[in-house]
Amino acid sequence: MTNPFETAVKQLEEAAGIAKLDKNKIEQLKSPDRYVEVSIPIIMDSGEQKIFKGFRSQHNNARGAYKGGIRYHQDVNLDEVRALSFWMSFKNAVINVPFGGGKGGIIVNPKELSISELEKLSRGWVQKMYRILGPEVDVPAPDVNTTGQIMDWMVDEYKKITGDEKSLAVFTGKPVGKGGSLGREEATGFGGFYVFEEAVKHHQIQPGAKIVVQGFGNVSTFFAKMAFEKGYKVVALSDSKGGIVNMDGLDFNKVLEHKKASGGLKDFSGSKNITNEELLELEADVLAPAALENVLTESNANKIKACLIVELANGPTTKEADKIFEEKNISVIPDILANSGGVCVSYYEWYQNMNNEIWNKEQVLEKLEKQIKLAFADVLAAKEKYKTTYRNGAYILAATRIMEKMTP
Ligand code: GLU
Repeated sequence: MTNPFETAVKQLEEAAGIAKLDKNKIEQLKSPDRYVEVSIPIIMDSGEQKIFKGFRSQHNNARGAYKGGIRYHQDVNLDEVRALSFWMSFKNAVINVPFGGGKGGIIVNPKELSISELEKLSRGWVQKMYRILGPEVDVPAPDVNTTGQIMDWMVDEYKKITGDEKSLAVFTGKPVGKGGSLGREEATGFGGFYVFEEAVKHHQIQPGAKIVVQGFGNVSTFFAKMAFEKGYKVVALSDSKGGIVNMDGLDFNKVLEHKKASGGLKDFSGSKNITNEELLELEADVLAPAALENVLTESNANKIKACLIVELANGPTTKEADKIFEEKNISVIPDILANSGGVCVSYYEWYQNMNNEIWNKEQVLEKLEKQIKLAFADVLAAKEKYKTTYRNGAYILAATRIMEKMTP
């Protein structure tokens, strides 16, 4: 199994080599400032005690507080969290928000917990971590399987323990009405779409192009909805159990209704059921992996037919797959640009909380669109300057911005 942290380090090394970046600083950026592993004991509804493992990795704070999500998943591990915190530092520099990079997680399948167990676990994570968090220290947010409700419990717990008046700004991605920002829910998916629109201008992608989306969580739903509404053909979608395909295009709103009614995507009328593996290899113009890391590897990269890959997930492409895509002339819009819309609006939320402001949704989405399109232009400029890939361009841009702030 590919170690995501090794992938992250190799990505940085390649970009640093191309732009001949300062070796000492690059060496520092290869390891997180610190990571913490905690045990969280919970009394389950059955009365039995269970102990869960929780993590937080703080990669770099040269540009501002550590910032990044917390994920709940049965496969979470320290190397994954370290890699994700690393990517956050670069993502935050690409989108140019004044944050460093952090990421956390708990080894748990949240679908197996009751609501009250989930609340205890979320509060338990804060009880063990609060000393290393703070609005100007480390600001977590939702990630895979974590929600606004979970952030709200976490804020409440943090406030109870610390009494900090600025507690709202310690977590972003909160529910609207509980200090959350309008537009935060849509931000990652919409941001991905704005980036995709910019990429369309630079590649021979025709209106009505066929798009395959892997995933059916927060990011993929808003991305696919926007793509469908703008006239692209979303031909395949999937969740963790499997996918559906109709090469003439799926009616996204009807898929959404079907998922709500049946609890899954399977057997959607007029579509064929497929596996997640088959979905990636479909004959489409654009592939948007929006689930977990390491789905595009050396064993399937040669079978990918899309000419453009938009990485809505973090770390979906291994280093070997990246090489194959480069050789095959498939453009990859990297995660640290493509999914940076979420943390961009997290910054707006943090800013509103710190300054007692409330912005309307139009303001938020307009600002997001401008900021992410500017990031795309900056990445494209670096890509063209060094005649390299989008990923290397994004890393060169981000590393340069981070290193400017690093002492010595
Ligand atoms: N979890 C999201 C990411 O991977 C958002 C992080 C944030 O808003 O802090 O970018």
